[in-house]
Amino acid sequence: MNSTLKTIVATGLMVAIAGCGNSSGPDGSSSGNGDSDAVVNVYSARHYNTDQELYDGFTEKTGIKVNVIEGKDSELLERLKSEGDRSPADIFLTVDAGRIWRAEEEGLFQPTQSETLNAAIPDNLRHPDGLWFGLSKRARIFVYNPDKVEEQELSTYENLASRQWEGRVCVRSSNNIYNQSLVAWMIEKDGADKTTAWAEGLVNNFARDPEGGDVPQIRAVAQGTCDVAIVNHYYLARLIKSDDPKNKAVTDKVGAYFPDSTHFNISGAGVLANAPNTDNAVQFLEYLASPDAQTFFAQSNNEYPTVEGTQLDTVLQDFGEFTASPINVSAYGRNNSEAITIMDQAGWK
Ligand code: FE
Repeated sequence: MNSTLKTIVATGLMVAIAGCGNSSGPDGSSSGNGDSDAVVNVYSARHYNTDQELYDGFTEKTGIKVNVIEGKDSELLERLKSEGDRSPADIFLTVDAGRIWRAEEEGLFQPTQSETLNAAIPDNLRHPDGLWFGLSKRARIFVYNPDKVEEQELSTYENLASRQWEGRVCVRSSNNIYNQSLVAWMIEKDGADKTTAWAEGLVNNFARDPEGGDVPQIRAVAQGTCDVAIVNHYYLARLIKSDDPKNKAVTDKVGAYFPDSTHFNISGAGVLANAPNTDNAVQFLEYLASPDAQTFFAQSNNEYPTVEGTQLDTVLQDFGEFTASPINVSAYGRNNSEAITIMDQAGWK
């Protein structure tokens, strides 16, 4: 190593060390870690009542104050882009790997190397280079009418495209990111040709043109409009937990089925490339991946924790055990445009 390079490496290390434990607020003020001025600024597309309690727990533990700006995913992305390197944001938190990918594509994240995060979160639920980490999981499952469907008839997503389901399937529209990610996942698993044939078969089996969100699909099954629907599990969990007798009337009439090799998506977050408080941001993510925070984070939307061994909510316990697909969720973004093309060509409205 020549002496110039040695100096650069040494300077880099000093900067790295100085960076540890330091933080600066949106105004650029600097402070030591753990004192009252330390902050982490979070742009969040999640809005649950329990989130604030979760953030308070982090402040209690570390002394780092959490400033949250909530908004719609697309609005926060626009804001981040327009703020550029003046952005005060340290963390971007959103749902669906397809959406996280949009931020990734814009180059908004920086890689995080954290042994804690890598040990806690399974490989397939985080970005290979640490750009983002999955913090909770949502399964895309089948809801069916037990009067019309024997549970043994259900198996895979692929099977729902077979002739036996003609005119019996409900699912929301193809412009919804959950379906786009489902198709992107299938491209990764089965290839584009098989996925094209599958999408055509599935559209052929629709009981009606796609309409409404996931909850209306569950209602449609209960009302007999369709025999099977594809929905995210937490919508069913929410109805099951509801005190409203109307929702109970719905959930009494439907069954939940987790297809073989269940397709999962995530809620996730990453440290932003222009983060003024990188070290605090990493600590914040590590906190969200801790068992206590995981229980809380996942429960707020009846999701599954990403960290193994975290206590499950009773509704999820009742759903039982199932095998999750091992495919890395980062494929969903990569295959997103191909998925949209396939859905369009299949006539999935
Ligand atoms: Fe949702």
